[in-house]
Amino acid sequence: MDNIQGGRRKITKRSVKMLSNKSQMMNKSLVTLLMLLILQPVIAQTKKVTGFFEKNIEKELNLESDFDKNLNPVNIGETIKILSAVPHHISSPGDKKNAEYILNLFQRWGWDAKIETFNVLFPTPEIRILEMISPVTYKAILKEPALKEDATSGQSGQLPTYNAFSADGDVTSELVFVNYGLPEDYEILDKMGIDVRGKIVIAKYGRSWRGIKPKVAQEHGAIGCIIYSDPADDGYFEGDVYPKGSFRNENGVQRGSVVDMATYPGDPLTPGIGATKDAKRLDRMQAPSLLKIPVLPISYHDAAPLLGAMGGPAAPAEWHGGLPFAYHIGPGKEKVHLKLTFSWNIVDCYDVVARIQGSLYPDEWVIRGNHQDAWVNGAGDPVSGLAALLEEAKSIGALLKTGWKPARTIVYCAWDGEEPGLLGSTEWVEEHEKELKEKAVIYINSDANGRGFLFAQGSHALEPFMDEIAKQVIDPQTNVSVFDRNRDHEAISMKNQESKRKSWEEKELKLDALGSGSDYSSFLQHAGIPSLNLGYSGEDPSGDYHSIYDSYDLYTKFKDPGFHYGVTLAETAGHAILRMADADILPFDFSHLYRAVDSYSKELMQLLKSSREETELENRIILSGGYSAGEDPTKGYIMPKVKAEVPFLDFSPLQNSLHQLETNVNVLQTVIQNNIHASNSNTGFNQSLYRAEQQLLNENGLPRRAWYKHTIYAPGYYTGYGVKTLPGIREAIEQRNWEEAQQQIETDASAINRLADYFKVLAPQAN
Ligand SMILES: [Zn+2]
Repeated sequence: MDNIQGGRRKITKRSVKMLSNKSQMMNKSLVTLLMLLILQPVIAQTKKVTGFFEKNIEKELNLESDFDKNLNPVNIGETIKILSAVPHHISSPGDKKNAEYILNLFQRWGWDAKIETFNVLFPTPEIRILEMISPVTYKAILKEPALKEDATSGQSGQLPTYNAFSADGDVTSELVFVNYGLPEDYEILDKMGIDVRGKIVIAKYGRSWRGIKPKVAQEHGAIGCIIYSDPADDGYFEGDVYPKGSFRNENGVQRGSVVDMATYPGDPLTPGIGATKDAKRLDRMQAPSLLKIPVLPISYHDAAPLLGAMGGPAAPAEWHGGLPFAYHIGPGKEKVHLKLTFSWNIVDCYDVVARIQGSLYPDEWVIRGNHQDAWVNGAGDPVSGLAALLEEAKSIGALLKTGWKPARTIVYCAWDGEEPGLLGSTEWVEEHEKELKEKAVIYINSDANGRGFLFAQGSHALEPFMDEIAKQVIDPQTNVSVFDRNRDHEAISMKNQESKRKSWEEKELKLDALGSGSDYSSFLQHAGIPSLNLGYSGEDPSGDYHSIYDSYDLYTKFKDPGFHYGVTLAETAGHAILRMADADILPFDFSHLYRAVDSYSKELMQLLKSSREETELENRIILSGGYSAGEDPTKGYIMPKVKAEVPFLDFSPLQNSLHQLETNVNVLQTVIQNNIHASNSNTGFNQSLYRAEQQLLNENGLPRRAWYKHTIYAPGYYTGYGVKTLPGIREAIEQRNWEEAQQQIETDASAINRLADYFKVLAPQAN
């Protein structure tokens, strides 16, 4: 593995060496002339750099190639080792030490850097008890043991296994197994006549953001929630467990936050404003993002005795996991006692923010970020991404020493408190919201990184921009572009003939829409700043997530041996930063935004139609007695109720606004093309381009979650990480709230009209 990955760099060095040997033998000017003849047309033909005037393209490409020369995998490995040396969760001694270390690096490299401190709520556990008291007794160990193969696994200062922002509680009850704990799982329980009111539920990790599970349990009246890692999801069913492989061993536990990030992320006590020392805070009991029931994550070692002793009916076949017994749903004779108390402290949250002042447009900011806090040592999450970011910062520092200065201001951030709820980034955005809305050109995020394939998510007007970069960055294992590698990998992985052909013939990189799960959320979904989330993964098997085993030892063995994908991420994000910082006309292409939103709108019309057809068919089956005849009569299923018909909604406001957007975008993009050809740039015009996405914000926010203001992208209220596009309309249809769906069509149409009008005014100004 190591050899294959090292190949590209070795070959590159070897070819350079051969060239220089030859040049000793040949006339130097002849070689130069030959190189010019060979290289020039190649650069001109294969390297397109949108946003730059013809005369500036070569300079930009040379800058990027100088930038790449300063990136070193050995150095990235060193950084990962240093920053994952001790546990460093928010406000711990290790966290403070790392923040100061990062600050010092930035300063040494010539950046103007400082630590901005916020004061945020961060609970840590005092008492954790989980025990079965009948029919058998079992006391959960709630601890991950140290392994001799993992040097940091026995360190002191580790946070115990827990879910941050669980409520305090002392509850005793029967158990109900709720599969992954999603709304659709409760529909099946309803059919089976099983009620979780007054019960403790036990759910598997996976298929949603973890905080959704206790939220849905609480909505259904449960009094406690246990979440465990089933071996079928990231344990021995997937491959060898740690230390032999990287999958979760029987004692591994996924820590994690259960604050309701789908309502609002950041400090639960200061929604919408920066959590500064004197900020006005909500009373903790009133904070809408805090749960009311206790929640605890456990290993499958601790889950097996509970699940194995459960009574009640057998679970549906699809609900079974990887443990060696039949799973039951409960409730039966089993009784479980769960007691949790926390110390609810306000702690320091250290954001490291470093700047290089732009030489031409100091008030236009190109922003890059990755979090620095971890649950424990966090070599993978977040240090692997952070180390790439720091390598970029080091290289940019070296470019400064050659006399280059970015045209726009570059801001690099290492966020604290991402793990408990995107605390550091959210508070920073809320505190500086007004200034960011004026100045932020783009926010580029990364997080955990590893061997594999590029993933790129973000604002769709950035699609061609990222496409170009993905076609120019080379994959370290295969020596083809990271775009080609993705396309080929998808083509060979597809089972279905049609999807295989489609993947194989794909000409352009597609950006996925952003949901939640890392620090881009407040930039994009609250402030409307164009955002990207970038990284590599897919060949970095994972079962260490949020455990003490996310360590340097595991990372170097299984995730990115040789740290070559650290370099690849640094090249990908670094080129994006450098291009945005120096572009003559900012490389936004709103025809891609139009196309994305238009496809979402068509999806919604289809969603409504299929919902109508499904409801009709289902109602016919119920009314004709299909359920009483078709179900197993011994299982006592509850007959489903007839559902109200799905009405027709009026999508015309949305369709008309999209038509207007398309027309105006076409005019704008032509103007941009003409200006590029005429080398015609204009500061006000560039500012209007990067502020355009803010037109899509609705100041009232989404229904029941006003913090989320973007009308196109939001995390799902019941998926958490998973994105919902045109979320206001989509979730109203999913919740069968037809009146709200119609209102949201109007709301989203007026946001799109606002953007269309904005472009109409903007296009003539560019000349
Ligand atoms: Zn992370």
